[in-house]
Parts: sequence; C-alpha cells; structure tokens
Amino acid sequence: MDNEKKKRLKKKEWKVGSVSEFLNLTKEEEEVIEKRLDNQQDETEKTDVKLEAFEDPNHKGNSSEYHTGKTCIEGECENPAGTHWSPHWCFKHNVERIRRIDSKLKFFI
Ligand SMILES: [Zn+2]
Repeated sequence: MDNEKKKRLKKKEWKVGSVSEFLNLTKEEEEVIEKRLDNQQDETEKTDVKLEAFEDPNHKGNSSEYHTGKTCIEGECENPAGTHWSPHWCFKHNVERIRRIDSKLKFFI
C-alpha cells in the first residue's frame, strides 16, 4: 500500500496494517499463509502459460492443410495464409488478431 493511501485511510480511521496484524496471527501462521499465496500465484502463472489452440503452432488448426495458397492479408507479410480460424491470416498474425479481439472483449465484460 502506498503512503498516500495509508494517510487517507488513517484519516478515515481505518486500521492500517498487515494481514497478520489484522488476523492476530503468529509468525508461523503468517509464513504458512504467505507460502499458500505464493503457490496460488504460481498456479495462476502456469495457466497463463498454457497455450490456447489458436496460438499453438503444433495444433492441427494451424497445420498446412488449412493454407489457402495465398499469402497473409496483413501488410507486407509473406507467410502462407489460412488457419482453422480464418483463411485470411497467417498463423502469427491470426494469433495477434485473436488476442486483439480477446482483449477488447475483456474490456467490455
Ligand atoms: Zn502474416
């Protein structure tokens, strides 16, 4: 928490302190909880690393059987166009495109 926020909270008579102070934990209990939180963080990072089908170059949807014989619609790109997700983009640009759409969707949710 930054100091500015602490000051503001104190002004409003909020109790400012660590979780262990708040819950009245012993040092040992605090360590256990911190370890758990760390593990949780690791789990989240792992799921982030997992590739979606569209961004996995080895996925069937990105294999050459979907290539249209044309080149990618994106700018100067010379890669073969065509994936399971769209006939117009190469694998790389299709990933960028879907991520763009995905982040816009998240913005609206
Ligand atoms: Zn491309």
